[in-house]
Amino acid sequence: MSHPTDADCVFCKIVAGKLPCFKLLEDESTLAFMDINPVNPGHALAVAKGHWPTVDVIPADMLAAVARTAQQVAKAAMKVLAPEGMNLVQANGSAAGQSVPHLHIHVMPRRVGDDVSLNWTPAPGDMKAIEAVADKLRAAL
Ligand code: AMP
Ligand code: ZN
Repeated sequence: MSHPTDADCVFCKIVAGKLPCFKLLEDESTLAFMDINPVNPGHALAVAKGHWPTVDVIPADMLAAVARTAQQVAKAAMKVLAPEGMNLVQANGSAAGQSVPHLHIHVMPRRVGDDVSLNWTPAPGDMKAIEAVADKLRAAL
């Protein structure tokens, strides 16, 4: 099946074999490889083979395929590396920390005190404000 591509995209180049990667796993729709700027040992990426930048534009079946691949890699990392925790992270837009606009899920092994700045301390929200946003979201679903 042919997927959209972007000649200037680093992950499209990796998918096309024009840039090297430490490949972990590949299927018809996805590829998983090691992140070359790992936050912890085992940090890997599952990417779609097509160039869809963000979660709102990728077809649902492709997103599901990326999630399946991320789960396989996460299971292997949890078995072999025995991290204390594991984050699967998917960023959309630079405000969310996305630097490569080609949909990917980070498979991120975690250790207590590893200083990866993803964690936050939950604090109770304003219930009226939460309800108002829920109403808006429901209307869009
Ligand atoms: P994000 O910031 O969520 O868009 O994640 C992009 C990730 O891609 C970063 O963690 C980078 O370290 C990683 N990355 C960028 N270029 C490459 C590459 N050539 N091979 C492997 N990982 C890469
Ligand atoms: Zn791309």
